[in-house]
Amino acid sequence: MEKEKLMFSCDVCGKQYQHGPGRYEGHKLELYGGIFCCDSCWRSNWDGWSTHYEEILLNHIKNKGLPIPKRNIKGLLPRN
Ligand SMILES: [Zn+2]
Repeated sequence: MEKEKLMFSCDVCGKQYQHGPGRYEGHKLELYGGIFCCDSCWRSNWDGWSTHYEEILLNHIKNKGLPIPKRNIKGLLPRN
C-alpha cells in the first residue's frame, strides 16, 4: 500500500509541495517567523528573495511582529 503523501502549500508562492514521507521539500524560514517555503522558492532565491515575493514576506513579518531582516548586498531580503 502506498503511503499517503503529506502535501503543504508554500507560504511564499502558494504552490503545493510534498513534505514527507520520504520526500521533504519544505524549507523553514527562521528569519520570517518559521514559515515554510517550497523547494523551488528555496533554490531560486538563494541570493535573496525576488522583489516579487517581498510583500508576502514582509506581511508575514508584520503579522508576527518580527523585525525586518537586514537586506543583503543586492538590496534584497535575505533568504535565511
Ligand atoms: Zn514556493
